[in-house]
Amino acid sequence: MKPAQLIILFLLAIFLGCKNPTSEKVEKAPEKSEKAIQSKPVVSFTFDDGNTSNLAGFQFKKWNRMILSHLEKEDLKAVFFITGKNKLNTKGQYLLKSWNDDGHTIANHSFSHPNFNSEKNTAQVFENELIKTDMIISKFSNHTKLFRFPYLKEGQHQAKVDSIRNILSKHNYLNGYVTIDASDWYVDQRLIRKIKEVGLDAIDIDTFKDFYVQHILERASYYEKLSYEMNGRHINHTLLLHHNLTSALFLGDLIKEFKEQGWDVIDADKAFQDEIFKSIPKSNFAGESLIYSMAKQSGKYDHVLRYPAEDSRYEKEEMDKLDL
Ligand SMILES: [Zn+2]
Repeated sequence: MKPAQLIILFLLAIFLGCKNPTSEKVEKAPEKSEKAIQSKPVVSFTFDDGNTSNLAGFQFKKWNRMILSHLEKEDLKAVFFITGKNKLNTKGQYLLKSWNDDGHTIANHSFSHPNFNSEKNTAQVFENELIKTDMIISKFSNHTKLFRFPYLKEGQHQAKVDSIRNILSKHNYLNGYVTIDASDWYVDQRLIRKIKEVGLDAIDIDTFKDFYVQHILERASYYEKLSYEMNGRHINHTLLLHHNLTSALFLGDLIKEFKEQGWDVIDADKAFQDEIFKSIPKSNFAGESLIYSMAKQSGKYDHVLRYPAEDSRYEKEEMDKLDL
């Protein structure tokens, strides 16, 4: 072997010797930097209840399909928190199948939508409600053991919240927390009322759409700002919307606006993997959105927190003014 060949072999040996530690570092780097460079706010979409009625002239199957089409167009998966009561008949089963078949996740939102801050809805009532709807959703391949509290009420006092939390974990359930709460249900209510009043053709649908989109984005920015101050990072948000006509008509525009305002839009099942959902507030601060109760618990944000956190009373005046 010539000296030149020996030198090449020697250099090759050094290079190969270095290769493993180097490539290990390279492999690890993207994972670390992915977390570090999450520079944009992140939102995912969750839908509550599950209505099987025709709405203001829109046939049930048609408006339900409109929601699913918006999600499909954006290649986006949602979590659908359903109430059990109206899901046992043909229409209810059709609804669950349509979401499950499109790859969305089906989760638990009680059987009859009780308010667990009310005296009469005890922890025993809670367990019954949880089990009844679990039996309905567990037949669908994409079901998950997340429970969303009706009205985001988890119990009117600490002892009851604790009992309910024990029942949740006994059944291997987690709280399907909302981080961004808003009043889409109220805009929907007024939209339906207006369509009934003046007819679909005479309605100023763009003004409704603009109000809706700007309202949701405004609440999203509010919760994102609060969350960023507390957590020092952009968490994966879970936005609460409802299975209703505003979702059917405006969801596409809403997703577009989130993107235009610099938000990343992700699948809701992925969003729920965020560590934030393990930081469960103390039971005396339970209820409302997760960000709200974290802020309440910190004691630092009382000047920017209102109660109720979200309600029709905050939107009524502006909607009246716009004749919506
Ligand atoms: Zn609900």
